[in-house]
Amino acid sequence: MSEPSFLPEARAYRLRNARVPGAFLTGGVPAGAILDGDACALIDIVVADGVIAGLLPAGASPDTLPAADLAGRQAWPRLVDAHTHLDKGHTVARTPNPDGDFPGARDATTADRTRHWDAEDLRRRMAYGLACAFAHGTGAIRTHLDSQDSAGEGALRDQAATTWAVFREMRAAWAGRIALQGVGLTPIDAYATAYGRRLADLIAESDGLIGGVTRPTGGLHGGALAEIDALLDRLFRLARERNLDVDLHVDETGDPAAASLDAVARATLRHGYEGRVTCGHCCSLALQPDAQASDTIARVAQAGIRIVTLPTVNMYLQDRQRGRTPRWRGVAPVQELMAAGVPVMVAGDNCRDAFYAYGDHDMLDTFRASVRILHLDHPLAGAPALAGPVPGAMMGLPHAGTIREGAPADLILLPARSLNEVVARPHADRIVVVAGRAIAARRPAYEALSGEAAPW
Ligand SMILES: [Zn+2]
Repeated sequence: MSEPSFLPEARAYRLRNARVPGAFLTGGVPAGAILDGDACALIDIVVADGVIAGLLPAGASPDTLPAADLAGRQAWPRLVDAHTHLDKGHTVARTPNPDGDFPGARDATTADRTRHWDAEDLRRRMAYGLACAFAHGTGAIRTHLDSQDSAGEGALRDQAATTWAVFREMRAAWAGRIALQGVGLTPIDAYATAYGRRLADLIAESDGLIGGVTRPTGGLHGGALAEIDALLDRLFRLARERNLDVDLHVDETGDPAAASLDAVARATLRHGYEGRVTCGHCCSLALQPDAQASDTIARVAQAGIRIVTLPTVNMYLQDRQRGRTPRWRGVAPVQELMAAGVPVMVAGDNCRDAFYAYGDHDMLDTFRASVRILHLDHPLAGAPALAGPVPGAMMGLPHAGTIREGAPADLILLPARSLNEVVARPHADRIVVVAGRAIAARRPAYEALSGEAAPW
């Protein structure tokens, strides 16, 4: 089934004997469908006019429609990448991080941004990242966009205005292929300045989300950010005045003294912003004393905060010291968060930049790595939710990351029968289906980044 012609050409057709993880069937498992040991249902999917018109137990779909037989192989929805940095991607070759750690990443990024990030550079790299994601089967992406005060960094351009203009252009150009959301990213102290208000206006005009990182300009996560409560109050007031949702980078450090997540939860409750706040990273929560972490997790649940963990990047970045082997994985305590009822998702974060030297905008790869890093297995049944329906709902896209009647027939067909077989292999040979048709797009060659022709 490696050829796009595997699917019938008809306006309406069936995918027979598809095995779909129950976590993706958010409208319910079709009554009578047989489940395997990981709660994957064996079903027939009826597609009509690019939409999922019916989900039935295997063998129950009408014989009158043309069919492709998946013979028990997995059908997934296109996945959702809820936290990325498309503006930073693919800069690692020209501006490497000398040590691979967080301060090196911050400094290399500032150097690269002030020197290179004009509209043409951003356009080329963002389009490349989106092309990779589309070919891999990602249907929705939220990207953070560096939006700090570029005058303070000595850049020659108004960086936020330049970046957001390119983002708006990309969002329009990719509509119908990838749903894009943008978040303004700046050290949080910017919101205490006149620039912060201008940025909030730019975000609102761009239909984006207000964001930030809970560290001071030029500083690091960790220790106490003295004015954190006042800064969060400022941010939440700017958000409320403009009716903007909030998405923050929080406590991306192994220093257990970094406890901004609790401050964010308190601010969310103080401003009545329950259900409208997402926090990424939250690494230090894993290293705090159990009683403190439990307290914070309870408050996060009460505040309706959603948590994004970025396992590949934080395993790369955290606990890195030259000549010393890392002792911890760098990730948030997601199992404890989920047990408390907090919506948790996995996402890709950085891609081939100073914060993470690798990656290919492939959410299936992120999912497979996340299972291993976070122990989301034994059983595997619940794991797919973290890459599909949970981030889809967080982004306010009710169909994204799900397989349900009435949703677009956006699918990934995998040469794997069980969740074990999905996790075991990279699946470069997947078939990506958008609106009922297999896409012809393939991952762009690396040469495309510099406009060269690939040798084959
Ligand atoms: Zn990030």
